[in-house]
Amino acid sequence: MNKINVTRSSMPTFEEYINEIKPLWDSRWLTNCGILHNELEEQLEKYLNVKNVSLFNNGHLALYTAINSLDLKGEVITTPFTFVSTTNAIVQNNLTPVFCDINEEDYTIDADKIEQLITDKTSAIVAVHVYGNVCNVDKINKIAKKHNLKVIYDAAHAFGVEYNGKTIGNYGDISMMSFHATKVFHTIEGGALLYNSNIKEKIKSLRNFGIINQEECEYIGMNTKMSEFHAAMGICNLRHIDEEILKRKKIVERYQEKLKDIPGIKCWQKQKNVKANYIYFPIYIDEKRYGISRDLLFEKLKEKGIISRKYFYPLVTDFRCYENYVSNTPIAKKIANGILTLPLYSDLNFDQVDYICDIIKMKGK
Ligand SMILES: *Cc1c(COP(=O)(O)O)cnc(C)c1O
Repeated sequence: MNKINVTRSSMPTFEEYINEIKPLWDSRWLTNCGILHNELEEQLEKYLNVKNVSLFNNGHLALYTAINSLDLKGEVITTPFTFVSTTNAIVQNNLTPVFCDINEEDYTIDADKIEQLITDKTSAIVAVHVYGNVCNVDKINKIAKKHNLKVIYDAAHAFGVEYNGKTIGNYGDISMMSFHATKVFHTIEGGALLYNSNIKEKIKSLRNFGIINQEECEYIGMNTKMSEFHAAMGICNLRHIDEEILKRKKIVERYQEKLKDIPGIKCWQKQKNVKANYIYFPIYIDEKRYGISRDLLFEKLKEKGIISRKYFYPLVTDFRCYENYVSNTPIAKKIANGILTLPLYSDLNFDQVDYICDIIKMKGK
C-alpha cells in the first residue's frame, strides 16, 4: 500500500481553473475586490445562506479582524482545544484569553462552565466549532444576552454545516471560516467572515488598511484581501462541494462501521439536528481499554505509511508562548492526550480505509 497522507487537497481539473483565470489576462484586475472576488462572495452568501460574506486572504486574519471590528476590551472566554490561531487572534487584539473547559461528547466549549468565568472585565466569547461539531449555540446565546457579551465563532472547520436547518454562520455576532487548502472548501489560502449585522463597510475597510475612500482612513487596518486567483479556485471548488462532502460522508461511515466494535476506540459521531460536513474523522483512544497508547498507535500507523494527526495536541495552553496564562481544563487535557484524526479526503478509497482499520484493530501489529 502506498503512503496515505492525513489529507489531500481537492482540486478542479486544470482546464476548469485555467478557464476561470483566463479573463484576467485581459482585465489586468488581479486583486482589490475584482470580478471573481465579488462573484465568489455572492455565491457564498447564497450557498451559506447568510446575509454577508466578506472574503479574506486567510482565516486567521479574518478572525483577527472579526475581533477587532467589535471594539472589545478586557477578557475573552475561549477554549484551549483548538488550533493556536484562535488564541493568537485574541491576544493579538490585546485581549486576555480566559480558558474554559470543553465537553467530552463533541469537544466544543462546555457551555455549563462559561458563566463561572465571567467577570466585570469579560467582553466576549470566542468559541470553536471543532471538527465541524456545533457548539451549544442556544445556551451560549442566552449567556451572551444575559451578560451583554459578543459572540464570535471560529467556524474554520464548519463550512456548510447546518444546525436546526440554519447554516452555522447565522449564530453569534460573527463567524470565521477558513478556506485553507486542507479544509473541506478551499481557495488555496483564504477565509471569510459571515455575519448578519450591518458592519460590511467597516469590515471592508479594516480589510484594506482602514481606508474608507481615497482621502480618508478611518481605522488602523491591515491588508487582508483575497486575490482574483484565489477567488477563481474558490469558484471552481464551490461547483463540486456537495459531491465532495458526499464522498467524505461515505468514507466516514465506512470508518465508523469498521471501528465500531473495538473496545477503547470512540469514533466521531454526527450530532443530532446537525447537517455535517465530514471535515475530519477524529477517534479518541482510551489507552486502558484499547491496550496501547494514542502515541504508540500514531507511530505504528506511521511505520506502515499512514499519516494520522494528533489534532489537537498539545493544548494551546501547553505551548511555551502561553505558559504564563492560567487554565484549569482537565477534560481538554484528557482529550488532547487521546485524540487522533485519521486520513480523510474525498478520493480516499474503501480499500485504504479498510487497511487503516485493520491496523487499528490489530493494535498496530
Ligand atoms: C485552519 C484554522 C484556522 C486558521 O485558518 P487559516 O485559513 O489557516 O488562517 C483557525 N482556527 C482553526 C480551528 C483552524 O482549523
